[in-house]
Amino acid sequence: MTIPYGRQDITQADVDAVIDALNSDFLTQGPMVPHFEKAIAEYCNTKHTIAINSATSALHLSCLALGLGPGDWLWTSPISFVASANCGLYCGAKVDFVDIDPHTYNLCPKSLERKLIAAEQSGQLPKILIPVHLCGQPCDMQAIHTLAQKYGFKIIEDASHAIGGKYLNAPIGNCRYSDITVFSFHPVKIITTAEGGAALTNDTELANRIALLRSHGITRNAEQMTQEPDGPWYYQQIDLGYNYRMTDLQAALGLSQLKRLDHYVTRRHALAEQYNELLADFPLTIPYQHSDGYSAYHLYVIRLQQEKNIVNRKHVFEKLREQDIGVNIHYIPIHTQPYYQRFGFKQGDFPQAESYYNEAISLPLYPKMTDEQLNKVVVALQEALQL
Ligand SMILES: *Cc1c(COP(=O)(O)O)cnc(C)c1O
Repeated sequence: MTIPYGRQDITQADVDAVIDALNSDFLTQGPMVPHFEKAIAEYCNTKHTIAINSATSALHLSCLALGLGPGDWLWTSPISFVASANCGLYCGAKVDFVDIDPHTYNLCPKSLERKLIAAEQSGQLPKILIPVHLCGQPCDMQAIHTLAQKYGFKIIEDASHAIGGKYLNAPIGNCRYSDITVFSFHPVKIITTAEGGAALTNDTELANRIALLRSHGITRNAEQMTQEPDGPWYYQQIDLGYNYRMTDLQAALGLSQLKRLDHYVTRRHALAEQYNELLADFPLTIPYQHSDGYSAYHLYVIRLQQEKNIVNRKHVFEKLREQDIGVNIHYIPIHTQPYYQRFGFKQGDFPQAESYYNEAISLPLYPKMTDEQLNKVVVALQEALQL
């Protein structure tokens, strides 16, 4: 693919940082992980950051730390990567979805409120809600937080797309309106550690629980132990945890990448602006941006106005792919996945999400994308739409 939909940017400084870590005393559980955690916490203005081996693992541990288990409900957006919902199933909980807002494509607070009112009557209120900041644009967190206060559920922000973005002029990840925020550092995301993720929180107890579960449920901290230590070698397993640790190599890469985070997001905005101008007269919807947020612009999703086009989305997708342009679709509604059908979901359950899915295409967007590449995408799109 000559122009992928997303791509990491690796500099010589990144390579040097990883080689330094490789030549150091620790490949894992050395000093780089806490350095990286501290740097993220400072950037986001959050008390605690726990680096984890992926956002998927971070979502799993966050759900466990909040006590999610069998009999509980977790709600999220149908327009997300499957990991946003699977974390509930890992804990033995039941999963349901809240339809999206037709403009932002994020979980709609009005639909949420309607669903909460019905759930309260049937005694099936969710324990956890996972709003997803799709494409890097923050959800309406104030409205969601107000509903959380009223109905008593916890909030995990899935900010896998959104590090470097802002909500009400404050960094996404500060957990002002949530219990925990999760980032992903997969290579297509805003900054990368190869595989990797993080959970952020201002709650020290939650942070300790996530850190414990990240490493087998084992503690070396005498204060956490439930029995007297036998001696200085002693560790205790006090819970059933996992090996979800990030390595020092990954953290070294992340720390180096973090230095360019603001620059990346600025460049993503500049490219998005160019798309906006060049596509202004095309029969499609460009990404709507709510004034409360500053998107990290992980994705630039256009929505074909199906009724105004003589060609359909699949045709456009195929024409662009034929020209080596790595368009993609984010996302197939989770409730329509075969695995989720066993829970009784069906087509028509979340009409806004399904209608979005039928019209959406993600155009290439990444910091090192050139103006020429962007122009090539626009010309190919014009041809594909037969304009
Ligand atoms: C990428 C992504 C994840 C999973 O991230 P990993 O780090 O690959 O586990 C979860 N949620 C969303 C919205 C994502 O885009």
